Amino acid sequence: MATMDTSNATQGTQHLSGAIFSGEGWLQGELSWHQDKLISVSGQPVAERDAQPPYLVPGFIDLHVHGGGGRDVMEGGTAMDTIAASHAQHGTTSLLATTMTASHQDIVTALEGVAAFRERQSAGANDSVAAAVIGAHLEGPYINPGKLGAQPDATRIATVEELALYHQRVPLKVITLAPECLAENGALEWLLEQQVRVQAGHTLATYEQASEAWDAGVRGFTHLFNAMPPFNHREPGLLGFALAHAEYAEIIPDLVHVHEGALNTALRAIPSLYAITDGTAACAMPDGEYRLGTQQVFKHGGCVRLRNGSLAGSCLTLDQALRNLVTLGRSLGDACQRVATLPARYLGLRDRGQLATGLRADIAVLNHQLQLDKVICAGREVQR
Ligand SMILES: [Zn+2]
Repeated sequence: MATMDTSNATQGTQHLSGAIFSGEGWLQGELSWHQDKLISVSGQPVAERDAQPPYLVPGFIDLHVHGGGGRDVMEGGTAMDTIAASHAQHGTTSLLATTMTASHQDIVTALEGVAAFRERQSAGANDSVAAAVIGAHLEGPYINPGKLGAQPDATRIATVEELALYHQRVPLKVITLAPECLAENGALEWLLEQQVRVQAGHTLATYEQASEAWDAGVRGFTHLFNAMPPFNHREPGLLGFALAHAEYAEIIPDLVHVHEGALNTALRAIPSLYAITDGTAACAMPDGEYRLGTQQVFKHGGCVRLRNGSLAGSCLTLDQALRNLVTLGRSLGDACQRVATLPARYLGLRDRGQLATGLRADIAVLNHQLQLDKVICAGREVQR
């Protein structure tokens, strides 16, 4: 042939070899992708202790992200570009843009920024390779004013009218609400019809109220242990209900929000416990002052706090979450599931969360110390 199709040459099949965490365990071998899809995953099955790095693991999926790289989802505008690029540098290839409790207009402003980012992303018009923003997680405003945590006091009662306006702008995938604060106005039923995963959080629900919420379809629990009453054996509360019954719950494994003993308790009790960052603008940034919604927060010593000292989101990234889980004694495969496979399964995403032929080419490459060497997002390498 005298001519060569250069577009094919630049977008030809690419390969990586190493220890691959496939859906069925570890394979020592090679994976290949073309454009944004994995086209082959093959190798010899190996036990994790015999797997030779680099480790090729599924790109991470973070269902609770407020910010990163110095920007906050609530800013709207182009903040999402920075946030999605910054988390991608830490191995996150899909995330949910997470809003705070705020006025209707402030939430709309945030979602319009997210919607514009998603349009640019699907048109391939973004400059840098960034995590896919698969939808929104509304954290509030329908929470209990008695359990705000770091959320500002702009709580209100959920209505279908308001929810539909948000859902029109960006598909809602997850909502955090206090089930005891729902009115009987059809809002919960509407959310479930739209297949939004409804999570209890920022709540004072009793065990009995949690049980009623479960029967009504509330299946998720937001940053388990945080912004809910602590466990008491005579009054186990929503936390006790989650430990006794939940299949899925989110947890922040930065070893600050939850003591490692409590983390181990939850890991033993809740089969599909998955990691989130609850990351703020301070993620991947030096110590200093940042914005969280309308509030000033301060990053210092691996924590992000309000001026009054209460924890306000985190500066965790999912690569660090994975290392923390391994430090707690989890296998690397188990940690990979908790930062990728389980959040995908919880949302019903079949095209990611595992390394298997036909799925999105979202790959995190880890060295023998579990530091990231490389991140591939929808087949393209993230510049780091
Ligand atoms: Zn949050």
